[in-house]
Amino acid sequence: MKARAEENKGLEKVDKKTVARFKKILLKEREQIVGEVKQIVESSKEMGQDGIQDIGDEAANIYNKQVLLSLNENERLRLKEVDESLDRIENGTYGICEECGGPISLKRLEVRPVAKYCVPCLTKLEKGKS
Ligand SMILES: [Zn+2]
Repeated sequence: MKARAEENKGLEKVDKKTVARFKKILLKEREQIVGEVKQIVESSKEMGQDGIQDIGDEAANIYNKQVLLSLNENERLRLKEVDESLDRIENGTYGICEECGGPISLKRLEVRPVAKYCVPCLTKLEKGKS
């Protein structure tokens, strides 16, 4: 029956096109997290010291580290989640629950693109925590 196929749709592994869409969202999110902090570092630099005009490769590396260091815990966690999700996209395991290996519903991914557990597993894990 047709209705049955429709029903199962939400449970299928996300297709390539959808993954590509989430990748864009995740990259944007990453940009946003890092971008915000870069601005903070930038402005504090301007205020703090003068004389640094040219940044070479090495300096740029230190600069990047500085950016990461200045992330607060919440932002670092967000960045970690985003990076892990991007890793999963690269590995082809995006949208698969880490706990049960089943597909994470598209609805859940729409709400939370960094989700790594399906709803039943998340509920179970959260119960186990408390
Ligand atoms: Zn699961």
